[in-house]
Amino acid sequence: MKRRRLGLSTRAIHGDGKKRADWTAVAPPLYQSATFTNPVGSSAEVLYTRYGNNPNQVDIGRRLALLEGADAALFVASGMGAAALAHLAVLRPGDHLLSSEWIYGGVHRLFTQEFGRLGIDVSFVNPTESRTWKRAMRKTTRALFVETPTNPLMRVIDLEPIATLCKAEGLALIVDSTFASPMNLRPLEHGADIVIHSATKYLNGHTDVIAGAVAGTEQVVEEVRRLMQVWGQAIDPFAAWLIDRGLRTLAVRVARHNATGLAVAEWCAKQDAITRVHYPGLPSHPDHGLARRQLGGFGGMLGIELNGGVRAAERFLSALTLAAHAPSLGGVETLVSEPRLTSHASLTVAQRAQAGIPDGFIRCSLGLEDADDLIADFAQALARP
Ligand SMILES: *Cc1c(COP(=O)(O)O)cnc(C)c1O
Repeated sequence: MKRRRLGLSTRAIHGDGKKRADWTAVAPPLYQSATFTNPVGSSAEVLYTRYGNNPNQVDIGRRLALLEGADAALFVASGMGAAALAHLAVLRPGDHLLSSEWIYGGVHRLFTQEFGRLGIDVSFVNPTESRTWKRAMRKTTRALFVETPTNPLMRVIDLEPIATLCKAEGLALIVDSTFASPMNLRPLEHGADIVIHSATKYLNGHTDVIAGAVAGTEQVVEEVRRLMQVWGQAIDPFAAWLIDRGLRTLAVRVARHNATGLAVAEWCAKQDAITRVHYPGLPSHPDHGLARRQLGGFGGMLGIELNGGVRAAERFLSALTLAAHAPSLGGVETLVSEPRLTSHASLTVAQRAQAGIPDGFIRCSLGLEDADDLIADFAQALARP
């Protein structure tokens, strides 16, 4: 009998849904052990936590693979670790990487400051048009990299034309899907080859772990594992255990982030003190139609621009009581930050304005509080003289 395909919520909790043996722990034990015993004379790979074969590490990898619809997945010590290793798994000295220009600042630094030293050339394109990707391709191009939805404008990039191009040219398409999580987007279903996550964000969801993940074919994930072992990027067992706990509630958390995101965005759109709202769930967003087709939900990330620029933004941020002023995202608590001081601090004022992120832009990671309370907090902060 063919087994029913389990839904995403069930997969997030039970993995492949195999029946448990009698007398086993329902909650997973924490294997806070660097090493494990092995049989005398065995030539099998030893169990050693830096190798990524500690049970806590193995379990979450299997579960993420099931969520992404990938053959395999591997968690590593940070989202940056995942970005670095995923690219190093497919690129060699002399290769060219073509990247979207709208990517996480740390990954941009990795590409511009480190990859050159390894003989990997990187160039950047505006990701919204497949023609620009094609025009920027070289004979040596081996991979394309894109982040969707983007930070902080929440632009949604259509993966399908880019994937078609990659298939035709034999290139690897690598997608940073941190903002969406597998609940809102599964890039492999749209033709991507490799998915990376900062698991620090939605996958863990409780702002208490730094971690990353890579999902893809067995072959790619094995290569990432080999690199992880020698570059020392393994995730700590307790971090893996916390992610295991976080993954169990991913479906309900993301559903709530989606609902709160839409409610707060719609409220913001009606405020005179807010000049622009960037949220893919609003019809005013440039990618609303695509977001409706490609995303399972519009997410909990929101960009707003206040009347009055930086001074108004600082007044607003100082007056908020529930929302905390902090970088990062994807946790249970609402966080607000200014891209001019965080992700886009390396650009000039003019470059930021050109990129559509004028000073005074506020990025909100809406948490799991009651939407009414968040709206009341925003309202009182906007009303401060
Ligand atoms: C945070 C983030 C990263 C980096 O992840 P860390 O876990 O901080 O190393 C990469 N990509 C995106 C989109 C992120 O938001």
